[in-house]
Amino acid sequence: MHDHVLDAGRAGARLTIDLAALEANWRDLAARAAPAECAAAVKADAYGLGLEPVVRRLHDAGCLTFFVALPEEALRLRAVAPDATVYLLNGLLPGWVDTIADAGIRPVLGSPEEWDDWAAAGARAGRPLPAALHIDTGMNRLGLTQAEAERLAADPTRRAAVALALVMSHLATADEPGHALIGRQLARFRAATALFPGVPASLANSAGIFAGADFHFGLVRPGVALYGGAVQAGRPSPMMPVVRLDAPILRVRPVPAGEPIGYGAARTLPRDSRIAILSVGYADGYHRLASSTDARPGGHVAIEGRPAPVVGRISMDLMAVDVTDHEQAHRGTRVELIGPHVPLTSIAAAMGTIDYEVLTSLGRRYRRVYLDEA
Ligand SMILES: *Cc1c(COP(=O)(O)O)cnc(C)c1O
Repeated sequence: MHDHVLDAGRAGARLTIDLAALEANWRDLAARAAPAECAAAVKADAYGLGLEPVVRRLHDAGCLTFFVALPEEALRLRAVAPDATVYLLNGLLPGWVDTIADAGIRPVLGSPEEWDDWAAAGARAGRPLPAALHIDTGMNRLGLTQAEAERLAADPTRRAAVALALVMSHLATADEPGHALIGRQLARFRAATALFPGVPASLANSAGIFAGADFHFGLVRPGVALYGGAVQAGRPSPMMPVVRLDAPILRVRPVPAGEPIGYGAARTLPRDSRIAILSVGYADGYHRLASSTDARPGGHVAIEGRPAPVVGRISMDLMAVDVTDHEQAHRGTRVELIGPHVPLTSIAAAMGTIDYEVLTSLGRRYRRVYLDEA
């Protein structure tokens, strides 16, 4: 309904999210990780793709366990999947303990203080409440040290005050094959899980699933691979693409050799050119680092499957691409900014970042279309 109005109001930039591909990726990862359970990391609005449609689809496909970062995300998830198991990665944020307990959300306890706060909430509730325990094995971010975990395990009263449902840790270098840290993390994690016999364990993110069965334990927690992202730094993604971004050309203009394009006159045309203007800019998450200047090439888009380079600086709401070699390009021609011919990994490289940040930066001004929505 009103698609034409929305298209005009948003100058036609369209983000297409293929829910069938999302489901296929989850099934693929679940098969690789079996017999481990395959959960889904859906923090940050399901990596920018939209928490509700993503969770609905994965839950229907059989995904029972979800990981989010923040209480607000956990509550939104609860509303869509009331029977799902929801883990809160950032743990017990002060002021949220009772809300989290009342909503049946499981915090990932990341410090001894959080363990004791959750134990106290259990005492108020009249029963130990379920939670995951995060053990730090090499990130030095959240998570108990091995010594802290040993002290906890050696204190039966304190240990019994939380219904421990999962022991987990997080890999720092799983996307860099051959890095020495991953083996150390595995050994440390095994030592930590031995302190909590009978409790299910989880170590693998997306890249960890591909690192081999040793890393799977009882449950895996892929995020970026679900959404089509790469699992090895700098390598093409083995997953199905889920996101496509395209926008129509607003105008094509001839610009003679020697003229500059855009802010800062940072790019001067070496030849007589045809320049196409698109209604997408850095305010839409098309990062300014993908600009091209005389010193440095930038990103590229694709027109009918063939690449066309970004020219000049990316503006807030506009960008320019060189269509001199695309004679068919005219006002209204749809240009692919992310998709089968412009993979996330290549755009991420042009922006000096990773697939994750391209996804989580996807703008709010795009018309969003969910393919294959039930
Ligand atoms: C985000 C996150 C994941 C998912 O990571 P990907 O690399 O996107 O697969 C898994 N575990 C934890 C603790 C996370 O923060």
